[in-house]
Amino acid sequence: MKHIAILGSTGSIGTQALDVVRQHPDQFEATVLTAGSNADLLIKQAIEFVPNAVVIANEAYYETVCEALAHLPIKVYAGDDAICQVVQMDSVDLVLTAIVGFAGLRSTVAAIQAGKTLALANKETLVVAGSIIRQLCQQHKVSVLPVDSEHSAIFQCLNGEGDNAISRILLTASGGPFNRYTLEQLERVTPQEALRHPNWNMGAKITIDSATLMNKGFEMIEAYWLYQVQPEQIQVVVHPESIVHSAVEFIDGTVMAQMGLPDMRLPIQYAFSYPRRLSLSGPKLHLFDLHTLHFERPDMQRFPCLQLAYDAIAKGGNMPCILNAAGEVCNQAFRQGLIGFMDIARITAQIMQQASYIPSPTLDDLFATDAETRQLTGLRIAPF
Ligand code: NAD
Ligand code: MG
Repeated sequence: MKHIAILGSTGSIGTQALDVVRQHPDQFEATVLTAGSNADLLIKQAIEFVPNAVVIANEAYYETVCEALAHLPIKVYAGDDAICQVVQMDSVDLVLTAIVGFAGLRSTVAAIQAGKTLALANKETLVVAGSIIRQLCQQHKVSVLPVDSEHSAIFQCLNGEGDNAISRILLTASGGPFNRYTLEQLERVTPQEALRHPNWNMGAKITIDSATLMNKGFEMIEAYWLYQVQPEQIQVVVHPESIVHSAVEFIDGTVMAQMGLPDMRLPIQYAFSYPRRLSLSGPKLHLFDLHTLHFERPDMQRFPCLQLAYDAIAKGGNMPCILNAAGEVCNQAFRQGLIGFMDIARITAQIMQQASYIPSPTLDDLFATDAETRQLTGLRIAPF
């Protein structure tokens, strides 16, 4: 029996993780559930799964959650510090990091410091602090099991390959809803259009990041830290069908790919059950139904956020942290109708020039960089 802490249990990844737990009650137990502000769903989940502890990050809902769960043997906490504490409980074997954005960094660090195995969905942690996270994982002998579908695919392609040298990673991208749009069309897309992803049903932030290819840029950085290849060795491949979830090319020219229907429960479950595979309900991939698969080069002119990610990792230091913070603020501003779709890349690029650069940041430096960048970006979006 694996005891799992699900951070961000009310989100897209969190709810799908609970579906995996639901399917294998003899294998997995949800020991900790945490949410940001969605108290109603957290309460519903706690009543169904009866975890050891729940945390609501937004303290305004503490009383509500306490009252609703008073009849059950569940400890209820509130606030960000509490999330960092519950992941360290002895009863937790594995921590699924499914909080969205920079907000997921502190609890991920706390889980590593307590030596917990990570099922990593919060890619922003590696984008912002890849070098520090790598060091901490080595120091505390923590394994990172990727949940992002592409990184799970790469991980599966590397199974049994030992030290065999990788020549390239082929990181697939659906291309999002605007793959065929011209620059003029891209200037005019609305948040409603951008929130309609063709293949995946995800949280709002990552859906917008998928439409701009910022998400693919983040995933390139994530792959860089997870698999120790140079950025030039990571080729983004636009693959609109989302059937090949990524591939690895070895030095002999062999390309190993992992395929499946787009269903996030698959990589989530594999991270939970690794190295074993368990059954999973739902439709399966049938090759005869596929007809054709397409693979194209990404267009950095129309999707400049991807180029910004290559620039940020080339510059190193706190630049990926600046990219992430400016990107998060712009992403939200676009959803609120404050800026246009192409402004996300334009403003992020400007802020990357403006924010203070630190070549070898500490964790504290990164928190300061995040705060400074958010302030600069906020001022750029709404100057008064
Ligand atoms: P989501 O917005 O659907 O859910 C986010 C969860 O985090 C919710 O439970 C929310 O309550 C909680 N949360 C938000 N802000 C918080 C805060 N400040 N403090 C504490 N909790 C907070 O997001 P999602 O789509 O599930 O994505 C979660 C993470 O997984 C992201 O890092 C994303 O990049 C990554 N990811 C998601 C998918 C996907 O299919 N959704 C795929 C790959 C990777
Ligand atoms: Mg992904």
